[in-house]
Order: sequence, then C-alpha cells, then structure tokens
Amino acid sequence: MTTAARAVFAPGLFDGQVALITGGATGIGFGIAELLSQLGAHVVLASRKPEHLEPAVADLLARGRSASSVQVDVRDPERVKAMVAQVVDEHSRIDILMNNAAGNFYAPSASLSPNAWKSVIEIDLYGTFFCSQAVLPVMKAQGGGRIISTSMTLHYRGWPMMAHATAAKAGVDALTKTLALEWAEHGVRINAIAPGPIPTEGVRKAFTPPPGSAATDVFDVEQAMDDHARKTIPLGRMGTPADIAQMVAFLASPAGDWITGGIFVVDGGEWLK
Ligand code: NAP
Repeated sequence: MTTAARAVFAPGLFDGQVALITGGATGIGFGIAELLSQLGAHVVLASRKPEHLEPAVADLLARGRSASSVQVDVRDPERVKAMVAQVVDEHSRIDILMNNAAGNFYAPSASLSPNAWKSVIEIDLYGTFFCSQAVLPVMKAQGGGRIISTSMTLHYRGWPMMAHATAAKAGVDALTKTLALEWAEHGVRINAIAPGPIPTEGVRKAFTPPPGSAATDVFDVEQAMDDHARKTIPLGRMGTPADIAQMVAFLASPAGDWITGGIFVVDGGEWLK
C-alpha cells in the first residue's frame, strides 16, 4: 500500500468492524484485506485452500493487524451458512461482506466443458448470492451493513474465451441492483466494483504463452503487460489491488452512506476504448 493511499482515509476508520472477504488471501482480495485491516477492521479471509489462507493471515498478524481465516467453498450454501455462523460466533458481527472469490481461466466457448462452465458460474454468481443471503440476517439484526462484490467490465462489450466469467459477472451486476432494492429497508447497502486488468497471478498466467511454445524462453510477461497497458489503458498502466481496495474503503465508509445498487468501474478508462 502506498503512502498516498494510506493518507486518504482516516486512521481507525473501521475500528471495531468485521469484514468478511471471500478470496481474501490472494490477489485483489488480499489487497482489500490489507487496507481494511490497516484502517482498523478485523478481516476474516475466506477461501478453500489453507496454503493460501495461513500465510496471508500470518503476514497480516506480523504487521500488527487483526485477521483470521475460515475455510469455505462458496459454491456450497450449507458451508457458506456455517462460515457465517463461525464468524459471528468468533467475532459477534459482520459489518462488511466482500464477495471477491472467483474462478479465472481463459477457454474457447466451443470446447468449454459443462463442468468448467458450471464451476465458474457457481463460484462467481451462486457464491455471491449464497454469501449475501447468509449475511443478511446478521446485518439486519445489527441494523445494517455493506455488501460489495467484485464484478468486471468484460461483459460490457463481450470478451472471447471468457463466456463463463462474463455471463457470471453480468449476473453479479443484476444481483447487485436487485438486492440493493430489496434490502435497503434493512440498512444494507449493496454495490459492486468492476476492476480493469490487475496483474495478479491469474492474469500473469493468461499473458504467458503455453509451455513449449516457441516464444516461452524469451517472453517477458511484465513487458507484455506494460505494452498492453500503454496501448489499451488511457491512464497508461495496469491497476493494482490497492486501486480496487481504495474504492472498497470509500464504499464501505460513511462517505458511501447514500450509495447503493451502484457498479463502479475502476480501470484507468480501459473499457471506454
Ligand atoms: P485470484 O487471486 O485468483 O483470486 C481468486 C480467489 O478466489 C482466490 O483467493 C481463491 O482462493 C478464491 N476462490 C476460488 N474458488 C473459490 C471457492 N469455490 N470458494 C471460495 N473461494 C474461492 O484472482 P484476482 O485476480 O485477485 O481476482 C479477484 C476478483 O477480481 C475476482 O472476482 C475476479 O473475477 C475479479 N477481477 C479481477 C481482475 C483482474 O484483472 N485481476 C479484473 C476484473 C475482475 P482458494 O483457491 O484458496 O479457494
């Protein structure tokens, strides 16, 4: 996190609050966990793999942050309910739910297997719904809360090799608006963020030629991403997890008190080109 980013938000902004972040141990989710915990929230990182969760929590604890983890597969509604029960049991409340878990891979639609299709729709769309539905009673009982989901921009114009993810995220956008209307009466604000390209491990993989291809030996993935950014992103660079985390902090803070049902593009202007 840059010093500039730190200075934008008041220290202790989220003191006493609990943020549950699915996919919170890697990539963008971890960037969100870093900023919210730095601003005083206890962050609960939720995903499937202990090899992701354990080092991420250890890293935050080593920096003096308040963090813990819970293992969950967001495709399973019963496991999701159990996750929420565990968080409430351990931390008494859930102020912020960040729906960020996703399955990411490029695949041609003509040969996309039913299982691959189902898996991405279930993680991105069903998972977002199951987690949102499961935290509602907790937030309702507390008098309110904030749910933020990570969407994308690729479905605004179509994106080859991503039929599964674009369909799922279009659903996430629809859910964001509908749940915002249904749950406003409970004081629950629901928004989504649509990031542009952020070079997490998954994105680096997508830029790297397959093993064995002629270019692999000399291929410089950082250079390829820089070239791509200069050509396609008006602000001239790829994003960072911190760019997305700052929008999350804004929406989750009292500055967002009159904002619900919004989908906020954070992409250096990319989708307009
Ligand atoms: P990432 O590092 O691959 O994050 C995906 C996370 O989801 C991982 O922590 C993974 O943890 C978790 N996850 C996957 N399947 C799960 C399941 N069934 N149950 C629970 N957790 C699961 O990817 P990222 O790039 O940071 O992406 C984060 C979010 O931003 C995603 O929603 C993605 O669609 C969105 N996004 C990313 C970009 C980008 O350029 N990076 C652009 C637009 C939108 P486990 O493996 O431990 O389960």
